[in-house]
Amino acid sequence: MTRDADDCHRCGRCCKRWGTALAGTIDDLYRWLEEERYDILQYCSARMNDGTVVCGAELTIRDLGDVYVVDLWKAPDGSSLHTCPFLSYDEQGLSLCTIHADKPSVCRNFTPYSWDNYETILDCPAHREKKRLNGEP
Ligand code: SF4
Ligand code: SF4
Repeated sequence: MTRDADDCHRCGRCCKRWGTALAGTIDDLYRWLEEERYDILQYCSARMNDGTVVCGAELTIRDLGDVYVVDLWKAPDGSSLHTCPFLSYDEQGLSLCTIHADKPSVCRNFTPYSWDNYETILDCPAHREKKRLNGEP
């Protein structure tokens, strides 16, 4: 199912709910390293093949071959965050992503209908509305 960008209500619930348990990619890290986006990299946690965990801001492009899992988003010291550090709200209370143009692929690819599971249906008003308009339960 496709959607118009306008379908999202910008409530921010998805970023709040899943924004600290996202899977990054090596391509994300590569892009941010090339662009020297240490403001983003500091919130990336790389699990390395040797079992160590390295903050993204400490990586170089040559290290990427040894990364096997990328966890988004973590505090620079590796501890858990309560919410995505890039989630903000405009003056009307609508959510916005402060790294919209550079956000990770998992966020770029996400739509209100990406995950058709109970939790997204319950949490996402756009998903619920679309189901209602489609006459789905
Ligand atoms: S990076 Fe942007 S789109 Fe992704 S969870 Fe954070 S605020 Fe949401
Ligand atoms: S929960 Fe749904 S409506 Fe709210 S911001 Fe996320 S995708 Fe948009």
